[in-house]
Amino acid sequence: MRILVIGGSFGGLTVAFSLRQKLGARHEIVLVSKEARFTFIPSLPWVAMGWRRMADISFDLAPVLSRWKVGFVEAAVIRIDPAKKQVHTAVETLDYDYLVIATGHRSANEAVPGLGPFDGPGHSLMSPPEAEEAREAWTAFLDSPGPMVIGCAPGASCIGPAYEFAFEVHHALARRGLRHKVPIVFVTPEPHLGHFGVGGFGKARQFLEGEFEARDIRYRTSAAIASISAEAVQLVDGPSLPSRYSMILPALSGVRAVAESGLGNPKGFIPVDAHYRHKDHPAIYAVGVAVALPPVEETPVPVNFPKTSNMTRQMAAVAAHNLAADILGGAPVTRTLSAECILDMGDRGAHMFADPIRPPRNRSEMSIGRRWLWAKRAYERYCLWRLKRGWAGPASGLLG
Ligand SMILES: Cc1cc2nc3c(=O)[nH]c(=O)nc-3n(C[C@H](O)[C@H](O)[C@H](O)COP(=O)(O)OP(=O)(O)OC[C@H]3O[C@@H](n4cnc5c(N)ncnc54)[C@H](O)[C@@H]3O)c2cc1C
Repeated sequence: MRILVIGGSFGGLTVAFSLRQKLGARHEIVLVSKEARFTFIPSLPWVAMGWRRMADISFDLAPVLSRWKVGFVEAAVIRIDPAKKQVHTAVETLDYDYLVIATGHRSANEAVPGLGPFDGPGHSLMSPPEAEEAREAWTAFLDSPGPMVIGCAPGASCIGPAYEFAFEVHHALARRGLRHKVPIVFVTPEPHLGHFGVGGFGKARQFLEGEFEARDIRYRTSAAIASISAEAVQLVDGPSLPSRYSMILPALSGVRAVAESGLGNPKGFIPVDAHYRHKDHPAIYAVGVAVALPPVEETPVPVNFPKTSNMTRQMAAVAAHNLAADILGGAPVTRTLSAECILDMGDRGAHMFADPIRPPRNRSEMSIGRRWLWAKRAYERYCLWRLKRGWAGPASGLLG
């Protein structure tokens, strides 16, 4: 059997390593990624702030995969043909018996004129080149500070990093004695602060309102951004907010290769069953940000459901178990997703946990302290160390 995995990040690596563990050496596993390196995406806000270099948070995929006898093709997939069980890249066509899609997102920058950085004057954190561009612009901004708008576009799902960036910017400016020169407005489609697309975590709303007020960060909730220019962020049915540096995270869609192969919903995200198997194609599994998951509730301005790296690894563990069960025999499993993340607040961290992630929940907690900032830094090191050694980690262990 030949199993193709598309994507060299949290989802693709977790599936590839788990499958190698479960299947032994008998079956061929090949990972296809358009990037030669794995990048620890949650550290991109630190890259934008100049607190990390890309080399600190990434590693080459080829040596790690080769040690685990996983083939590696560095190429962008342009089309998938589920009828012929083939994946087309610009250079070759690859056959598969089973396919796992872990291609993450495409930033839907076209939805708001001016979303950037490569489509407009705005800045973003969604990919390494965007975080590096944001850092260069930030360095220039410090020489000539002015008003800032930070936040998310309507329909965004990856909202936590916008909060992190607001706290980090405040911290960095206050340390330089420049904060009084930079009015900051946080603009979000969320119906209240701390909603995060999941209906909130514990007392996140009261906590974040208090912390923003204590730092003099003004905020606008249920706000829809109409456009971004080099001088301002224009709200729908609202004012034009002066801004010389606008960090606005976009709504996401599925990548073009999936959308154009007819495997996704209208946004290009992949519909899966409880086993992370494609609803119409039994030989295809999908995990991570590429998967279609509905919003938790209707909100005045759309807010979509987030897919964190922790959730991605839980999905990957379930998909790897079920794919191995298809081949070796055994019962499929499913799992209710929980969420755990740490928000960097510049001088402290906030740990958030929700089980299950969709309300109503058994547990929903938030805890604050300097120890969580240290835990976030330690987790980055641990995760890079673990993946570099080809260890899929505890999320896959839970399923045996
Ligand atoms: C700024 C930021 C901060 C974040 N912070 C946190 C956090 O603190 N905690 C947390 O849990 N989560 C966080 N997340 C979310 C987390 O990064 C994602 O959940 C995780 O990266 C999803 O992994 P994935 O494997 O599904 O997709 P991705 O990480 O997006 O990886 C997609 C992979 O597919 C490859 N690919 C894409 N298209 C193709 C193609 N056509 N052909 C071949 N290969 C392709 C890419 O090269 C990449 O290797 C953050 C996200 C961002 C953007």
